[in-house]
Amino acid sequence: MRKIILSVSTAILIIGCVYFLSYPQIQAAQKPAKMAEETEKGPLEGVCIVVDAGHGGYDGGARAGQSKTWEKEINLQMAMQFRNALEAAGARVILTREEDKAFADKKRPDLDARLNMAREADADMLLSVHMNQYHNARESGPQVFYRKAQQDSRLLAGCIQQAMIDDLQPQKARAALAGDYYMLSLDIPSVLVECGFISNPEEEKMLLDAGYQKRLAEAVCRGVCEFMVLCGVEQ
Ligand SMILES: [Zn+2]
Repeated sequence: MRKIILSVSTAILIIGCVYFLSYPQIQAAQKPAKMAEETEKGPLEGVCIVVDAGHGGYDGGARAGQSKTWEKEINLQMAMQFRNALEAAGARVILTREEDKAFADKKRPDLDARLNMAREADADMLLSVHMNQYHNARESGPQVFYRKAQQDSRLLAGCIQQAMIDDLQPQKARAALAGDYYMLSLDIPSVLVECGFISNPEEEKMLLDAGYQKRLAEAVCRGVCEFMVLCGVEQ
């Protein structure tokens, strides 16, 4: 009987020891899931991006050849898609406008108001969203513009241009170009994205389609992520 009691207590002791010794492992096994949760930050975590829907209010911008939709309306839809994609990647996004409005009744003060939003937010990056137009309806393809002397903006434009070519496979693969736009006058990486030609009937149809808008925004977001990786390598 004594033997049995002894062996039972020995068994309890052994089980206790095994449990005690394996407890840290159990804890450790549970930890990675929690850590993964904590480190599951998007690639754009901590990056503040101003997304500007070009034109608005009295300034309609270009007009689509078939549907006669104003550029300002498509820009706003697209800017919201940009916001969705960039926020999903962890960025903090500020839209210059979320409705059909201008910030002044003249072009320059209107643009100044938009630039000031980026200044006040101490933004890291600015993306201005536009639609292209040309008298030849065959012209097509998205194209990104940057300010000539800005190396960071040039790199960002190249990354976005390439991502759009890879992901959207446009009929015409354009190259990023230097352009003298007032919206690109800040010191932060800034680009103007001409999402496509609304003077081209086929491309107009795509640009009005929410599914294509989403794909385009996701391609732009991928380009921004690539840019951040390259910036990190450079530093
Ligand atoms: Zn425009």
